[in-house]
Amino acid sequence: MTDFKRDGSHLAYCPPVEKWDDWVELDAEAWPRRVEKHYSLVPTVCFNCESACGLLAYVDKETGKVAKFEGNPMHPASRGRLCAKGPATINQIHDPDRVLYPMKRSGARGAGKWTRTSWEEVLQTFGTRIRKAIQEGRGEEVMYHVGRPGHDFIMERTLQAWGIDGHNSHTNVCSSSARLGYLLWHYADRPSPDHANARFILLLSAHLESGHYFNPHAQRIIDGKMAGAKLAVMDPRLSNTASMADYWMPTYPGTEAAVLLAMAKVILDENRFDATFVKNWTNWEELEVDGFKAKGQSFEALIEALKKHYAQFTPQFAEKESGVKADIIVKTAREIATAGSRFASHLWRGSASGNLGGWQPARALMLLHVLTGSVGTEGGHNLNAWNKFVPKTFKVPPPQKNWNELLYPQEWPLCTHEMSFLLPHFLKEGRGRIEAYFTRVFNPVWTYPDGFSWIEMLRDEEKLGLHAALTPTWSETAWFADYVLPMGFSSERHDLMSQESYAGKWIGFRQPVNRVLRERGGEKFDYTYQTNPGEVWEEDEFWINLSWAIDPDGSMGIRQYFESPYRPGQKLTVDEYYGWIFDNSVPGLPETAKKEGLTPLQYMRRYGAFEVTRDVYKQNEKPVAAAQLAGSKLEANGVVTKAGKPVGVMIEDQAVVGYNTPSRKLELFSKTMADWKWPEFTLPEYYRSHIHRSAQAASVGQAEEDFDAKYMPVVDWPKDARGEVYTLLPIFRLPNLIHTRSGNAKFLYEISHKNPLWVNPVDAKKLGGIRTGDLMKVHTEIGYFVLHAWVTEGLTPGVVACSHHLGRWRINKEDQVERMSSAWVDLKEVGKGQWKMRQIESVSPYESADPETKRVWWSDAGVHQDITFPVHPDPISGMHCWHQMVRVERAGADDRYGDIFVDTNLSFAVYQRWKALARPAPGPGGLRRPLWIPRVVRPEEAAFYIKNP
Ligand code: SF4
Repeated sequence: MTDFKRDGSHLAYCPPVEKWDDWVELDAEAWPRRVEKHYSLVPTVCFNCESACGLLAYVDKETGKVAKFEGNPMHPASRGRLCAKGPATINQIHDPDRVLYPMKRSGARGAGKWTRTSWEEVLQTFGTRIRKAIQEGRGEEVMYHVGRPGHDFIMERTLQAWGIDGHNSHTNVCSSSARLGYLLWHYADRPSPDHANARFILLLSAHLESGHYFNPHAQRIIDGKMAGAKLAVMDPRLSNTASMADYWMPTYPGTEAAVLLAMAKVILDENRFDATFVKNWTNWEELEVDGFKAKGQSFEALIEALKKHYAQFTPQFAEKESGVKADIIVKTAREIATAGSRFASHLWRGSASGNLGGWQPARALMLLHVLTGSVGTEGGHNLNAWNKFVPKTFKVPPPQKNWNELLYPQEWPLCTHEMSFLLPHFLKEGRGRIEAYFTRVFNPVWTYPDGFSWIEMLRDEEKLGLHAALTPTWSETAWFADYVLPMGFSSERHDLMSQESYAGKWIGFRQPVNRVLRERGGEKFDYTYQTNPGEVWEEDEFWINLSWAIDPDGSMGIRQYFESPYRPGQKLTVDEYYGWIFDNSVPGLPETAKKEGLTPLQYMRRYGAFEVTRDVYKQNEKPVAAAQLAGSKLEANGVVTKAGKPVGVMIEDQAVVGYNTPSRKLELFSKTMADWKWPEFTLPEYYRSHIHRSAQAASVGQAEEDFDAKYMPVVDWPKDARGEVYTLLPIFRLPNLIHTRSGNAKFLYEISHKNPLWVNPVDAKKLGGIRTGDLMKVHTEIGYFVLHAWVTEGLTPGVVACSHHLGRWRINKEDQVERMSSAWVDLKEVGKGQWKMRQIESVSPYESADPETKRVWWSDAGVHQDITFPVHPDPISGMHCWHQMVRVERAGADDRYGDIFVDTNLSFAVYQRWKALARPAPGPGGLRRPLWIPRVVRPEEAAFYIKNP
């Protein structure tokens, strides 16, 4: 911790550490009397988004209860600051409607009837089913499906200890496209921009208010701005982020790559690129394009070929595609060139997650970094792998032997993550079944597209044997489970966290606050649920105990990985698990702890976070270790190999580690794309999204010449769809909401609880004089939803928008539901696969253990738009392309606010149309996917080959 003054002068509002055991504040409720309150302050880590900011829990010494959460000033990434969602943890832990005990369904699936059960019964039931499946060679019928991760590594360990390929995630509805764009360049699949030291920052999204690593990044963007950096934002909406920018570039959705390539053209044409960097650090000699082969040619010839290749991307062309003025494109390109190595950027969701080909903007954005030499630099673009700390643990299980086709099917060999949003369709096609299914803080019925197909899957007891929802809250998905298992919030569980938040590497330790304090006081507990509200547990202990239940006598070889490294044959405790990691795998932590007379575990329990290093720039230039060099071979292309695997690259006569790509350089030319049947995309390119104007015209039978059906399916509108065709932006976040978990945070719902349809005044006029508050019907390819209009100039014309995160609903009126955030609905299957939902009653005040629920003043929970969207798997990245082509009209006399209709037969047909765009494996040598591309919970190499391709 180098930056933080403990006397409070740097962050005067944060209590200094030496006062954390007895922090005194005046009781606000006793005012005007001066009544002192004494608190113990215990650090933990926020669980309300992936940023993992440091929280300080204020535990009232008189009652032993957590009274509030504020920022932990000792946390290097968040530096004592939080967004609204961090302090709202207090609402979540005291929520009167939360799940407190393990529950088992007592009626049909989805009937909403539950009885309390015990953790022991849960462990025995699942332990027996999973043991049988593994012993019968059906291990792939066990699946863990994570929504909010919020922990590092323990699940990989658990699943590999079980020997199964069973990890599923939400990533393909979140960030897969951006990841593919980045990893094709440098293996690392996420950027780590050094905003604080940048001279020019380009954001392709509302990153400042709601982005990935939101609060830690927002602080540093502002640090950069305060130090003189210019900020440009590409976003069709005038977001709060855009309103802070020097340049707002309201690109028509899906055209961002055209603008970025036009900027690249300006930099190339004006010879303002960093020639030394491009020459040394890209694989330009491998480039083959437009009949030009760089091998044996001069670097200057390569530059000429690039200029020729990108000649079509004139600023005028980019303006025509995107709507952004050509002179702004030229001006920002020149500013980026001037910033040079101090050019930082971020792209994560927005253009990447919304569009067919959404991986191309990331690839085009990286071209700007490569041209300016701003990769690995202070103030530039760094790699997530350089700034995120990954711990090591004892006795690591071997990789699993099998490959689960329900996770990584052959159609999408380049998908970065599991094709999770297609699971209902895969089961419908008869590709497999699931014996035991764990959903972990995951609510696909509500957060995924095509939620009714999920309901159909979750109800099917043939295809889905047993389902446990591990969740801190009731949810639309939990109601269709067999078990609902309560898991803790930020102050009720252990997890290790690290993210690429700034130019440094850190770890944070989430911990159960009450248990920590009581154990400090001399009490001893076997399990965290003994100190949490009700019997709320934590997953670390759940997985350890479930592993013992699967393999009680150790004969399956599973139990050994969940035995203590210190007490042979005894069950592992969380203290031992984390104690070993902190003792053995965090450089510098044991020494720092020792200086304070603490063990590393005590240090982490005391401070909650530790900065591992600030030495993070230019990791590619580190020399190859002597041990690696011994016995290595220098290949003709300059790559240093050992035992046939690349370990480094020669740069200016020095063997350095480079990047984890096949060329060990930044891959300007992707041979991988050529090898895997996409030769037209070996360079960064632009191709039109499924919601491009040409596709809109094609959908109503007015196909333009430049509509290319090879890359995009034509929309087949439902018979009753009427109205004007628009592009719907459905994925922008409201900064204070947290997917499902804001449902039990009353302060957050008080701030925002409505998601109207944004309509530009130009379009409002076209639609017949629409006014704010008018009822609109939005038709998707598979159904419709009905909501109010909001007429605003904060959105580019031709596009409508509706925010993510709202539209919660419940099928029970009062029991096992979150009443302050959801509408009570009538849900009916009116024909096979035809679902109708109508709101019976929206939010209103109610009696509960919390007197404030009687003061609920809002009467709207929003409208659930996502459930009316079909799946759109990008043929290359596998990402669900969220933007929707919709038809918009005024609602009719029979339509009511919140009405929803979906036909899942149509959604299956849309899935088939998109699947047909893919170019399936096998690739070279019968591979399922390239060996060099990362895979979550990676199996052994033999599993990458299709048997008898
Ligand atoms: S950005 Fe907000 S929600 Fe996310 S971890 Fe930080 S405080 Fe929590």
